[in-house]
Amino acid sequence: LSPEVLDLRDTMGELAHLLDRLVGERVRLRIRNGEGLPPIRADKRKLEQVVMNLVVNARDAMPGGGEIRLETEAVELASDLRRDRAVVPAGPYALVRVIDEGEGIPPDRLTKIFEPFFTTKRPGEGTGLGLSTVYGIVKQTGGFIFVDSEPGRGSTFTLYLPTYRGETKGAEPCAVE
Ligand code: C2E
Repeated sequence: LSPEVLDLRDTMGELAHLLDRLVGERVRLRIRNGEGLPPIRADKRKLEQVVMNLVVNARDAMPGGGEIRLETEAVELASDLRRDRAVVPAGPYALVRVIDEGEGIPPDRLTKIFEPFFTTKRPGEGTGLGLSTVYGIVKQTGGFIFVDSEPGRGSTFTLYLPTYRGETKGAEPCAVE
């Protein structure tokens, strides 16, 4: 991983054309960036792979067409967030959400989708990295990923990405006061 300081708005802007082509004719992609997005520290290529995979999955969940919303948002967690056995420490995050209006994921599968080798696709049908790889990249980035899904209504994948707070680490240039 080669992390760098990233502006999510720029990253999304650079990805937009590629994503538009990926989703095809029947699916509309709407990208909406939140206000006051903090800079994040992540491997740009890996983050792009994560977003691409989530968008491709969203597309595949809507074979009849529909809309995918790709949203970013600045969030300040006032206290630790406990969810799925994970503890997201209080503090600032940049959120990325991929929202589809597909058939949804059955509740009994929701806890399994980030596990290695779990797929709902038939052999040869799976595209991209798979959610376990997505999960791995998110963990290596120091982030979190959660899924909300309602059968018949759609799914939302939410990434919590830690913000860059100017610590000098590794090859980051030192701030001179
Ligand atoms: P788990 O998946 O069994 O992971 C147990 C511990 O292994 C984690 O504790 C973490 O220290 C380490 N670990 C697992 N996968 C990775 C990885 O890909 N990279 C790295 N660097 N470490 C890894 P932790 O973080 O306290 O998480 C406890 C449990 O909370 C996890 O059990 C998992 O069930 C859940 N969890 C953690 N992060 C997330 C997340 O981002 N999304 C979701 N849905 N669940 C999460």
